[in-house]
Amino acid sequence: MKFYITTPIYYVNDVAHIGHSYTTIASDVIARWKRLNNYDVFFLTGTDEHGAKIDAASKAKCKTPQKFCDEMSAKFKEAWKLLDISYTDFIRTTEHRHLVSVEKVIQILSDKGLIFKKKYESLYCVGCERFYAQKDLDENGCCHLHQTKPTLQSEENYFFKLSSFQNAILERITNPNHEEYLEIQPEERRNEIIGKLKLGLEDISFSRIAVEWGIPLPFDKRQTVYVWVDALINYMTGVGYIENENRFKKYWPVDAHLMAKDILWFHSVIFPAILMGLGLPLSRKIYSHGFFTLNGSKMSKSLGNVISPQELVDKYGVDAARYLTVTLIPFGSDGDISWEGLTLKYNEDLANNLGNLVSRIIKIAEKCFDLHVPYVEQNLELAKNTSAILKENFIVNMDNGQLHKAAQDLQSVITFVNRQIETDAPWKLIKTDMNKLAACIYSYLQAVDIIAMYLIPFMPTISKKIWQITGARGDMDEVAKKYFLDSIIPENGFSPSNAQLQVFGILFPRIC
Ligand SMILES: [Zn+2]
Repeated sequence: MKFYITTPIYYVNDVAHIGHSYTTIASDVIARWKRLNNYDVFFLTGTDEHGAKIDAASKAKCKTPQKFCDEMSAKFKEAWKLLDISYTDFIRTTEHRHLVSVEKVIQILSDKGLIFKKKYESLYCVGCERFYAQKDLDENGCCHLHQTKPTLQSEENYFFKLSSFQNAILERITNPNHEEYLEIQPEERRNEIIGKLKLGLEDISFSRIAVEWGIPLPFDKRQTVYVWVDALINYMTGVGYIENENRFKKYWPVDAHLMAKDILWFHSVIFPAILMGLGLPLSRKIYSHGFFTLNGSKMSKSLGNVISPQELVDKYGVDAARYLTVTLIPFGSDGDISWEGLTLKYNEDLANNLGNLVSRIIKIAEKCFDLHVPYVEQNLELAKNTSAILKENFIVNMDNGQLHKAAQDLQSVITFVNRQIETDAPWKLIKTDMNKLAACIYSYLQAVDIIAMYLIPFMPTISKKIWQITGARGDMDEVAKKYFLDSIIPENGFSPSNAQLQVFGILFPRIC
């Protein structure tokens, strides 16, 4: 089975901050989870590089727009490398493959009579790169997002007959039995979209005269394609719309789009209309997440309170930074974060719970058996319980994009195993019953191995480190794939009786 997942392409007037990181890590966690579940995953991310804002930003730095985009796009790539993001492809909208893709889409829509010329006058927010009606603005006539007054622009543009798709889109968003049902999560955002759709759709301008930094219309080179339309088509280009027909057939449609709530309208209304116009199947699911504030205030470059991937990694390490970013606030809701909150969660979940679990088992095995636990009766009871708890909740939560809940499931199972150790009190068995002590350690190791396999999507490196520490057998990814396929624990466990354990430094040093 295939699974095609996307992040939005990020606008290169900004550098990666925790908002971008959140969407991208969440997508990566889901992509890795699907791979473990034997899906053939295509994971696309990239950068959005056209539009008036980019043109202005590059001029301000005395650079050509292309050079500016090259540099900014490279920074996003570096950030994703730092955060261990396992994307399949990175698309840039200034690439040739995308230019031909956009030209083809516009030409087909035009050939089908869905594009027409019209004189137009409306309020345009350059910050948003979109037109607004007066009713969309606040009481001062400003854009809600930018707090600036949009300018009145008058142009003769090429319009797309968006209005003719109103009922078809409504049907696909509201009817779960429709064969092209487009699921939107969370429910409240889905309802907002439905409410807005019911008010009616107006045709939308698909081109600009004044924006030079863009893709020229194939039939009128004086105008460029509206940057949002250009951007949405990236999801098609990325899997080979023009350059690789077989790949496109294999992966299309998109199974999951992840994004922040401010761009949901484009993905749930405009993109479906384009796809219907082209006669292509619609994306299947959209997960829209909320906004972050930092210590109660909006994060922005000008306020200088943006958390960069580098800062997170410097403080917590890569795997913990990934884990904390996607689990600190409930997926879908707005949330306030703070360095204190991040550190508190790091200490609670990782240093005190997970790190402590691994270290106490290893310590006692080192003290009593010099890290070589002798052959004993193989008790898989604890492993089976661990497996059963996780199977019930974690899988459902991951499939619903509820990553913070899936992480809570993991934490409660770690707590469960920690409690079992308290109950067994293996340190009391030292010298009195070494056989039973070895059997206890054996059973803990199996439970930790299972926890480590569920951790892979969040912590790709530390999960493997734990696998080594416990002396588990085989390539971890392969063993995990087999385990997730049939959820059967091997008869003699993952770490063999007689396993050679490894010492390690502290997995998650406490942070003050
Ligand atoms: Zn705006």
